[in-house]
Amino acid sequence: MCVDLHVHTTESDGTWTPQEVVREAVQRGLKAIAITDHDTTAGIHAAQEQAPTGLTVIPGIEVNAAAPDGADIHILGLWIDPLNAALQEQLNTLRESRLERTEKILSLLGQLGISLTVDDVLKYAREDVVSRSHIASALLEKGVVASKAEAFQRLIGEGCPAYVPRYKVEPARAVDLILQAGGVPVLAHPGLLNNLDVLPLLVDAGLVGLEVIHPSHNEDQTRYYLTVAHQYGLLPSGGSDCHGPGGKDQVYLGSYTIPEEWLHKLAARR
Ligand SMILES: [Zn+2]
Ligand SMILES: [Zn+2]
Repeated sequence: MCVDLHVHTTESDGTWTPQEVVREAVQRGLKAIAITDHDTTAGIHAAQEQAPTGLTVIPGIEVNAAAPDGADIHILGLWIDPLNAALQEQLNTLRESRLERTEKILSLLGQLGISLTVDDVLKYAREDVVSRSHIASALLEKGVVASKAEAFQRLIGEGCPAYVPRYKVEPARAVDLILQAGGVPVLAHPGLLNNLDVLPLLVDAGLVGLEVIHPSHNEDQTRYYLTVAHQYGLLPSGGSDCHGPGGKDQVYLGSYTIPEEWLHKLAARR
């Protein structure tokens, strides 16, 4: 059984609609996927409606949090209740802050002589989940950069002249929100962190899983994070973190899956 517990759609920064994600998942022989868009649950319903028998769509979320040292901490929530009020309120705040951040970035770009309007950017975003990826698309369209990667390297990436850090929730708060919404919290792609200093704090807050399988992890890292999961009493999870074609990464849907046994163990912790 092929299971992928980390997939994005056009409702955040993916390039496939929820319907397209489902179609592609079926073509790749997946039996279960989790829709885990950044800071929104908007893609879940459409994906579930589209899913044929034989494909389970797990309602999920990826909450962007920040560690005390400022590091980006992504917490996945699996089997969350999309209707949970506390969760939706926090997600609203996060999305509003994304819009404010976009305005700040556009003003910095303006100071560099690059004129871009909010509408230029929003036409690439679904609803209000606007990200730097959408700004990069607008910059590419205007011919300011030759690729989206160049936009990140030269203009809007960390350390660049038009870089603006974003508002984030505390990691323990993100774990708590997911638990309150009936979900199973999982620390995403630990290999992208500089260190695991935040882990004890997350475990205290009720973290259940660790994303062991991820495109950014090599075999050694996968083995290492399996050991770490065991040490902390966490369940292993994994997925493709697929953002669809034309994004920052390749299309990894169907290439990074987890054993069915892992799915059942995670599901039992709902
Ligand atoms: Zn992430
Ligand atoms: Zn992700």
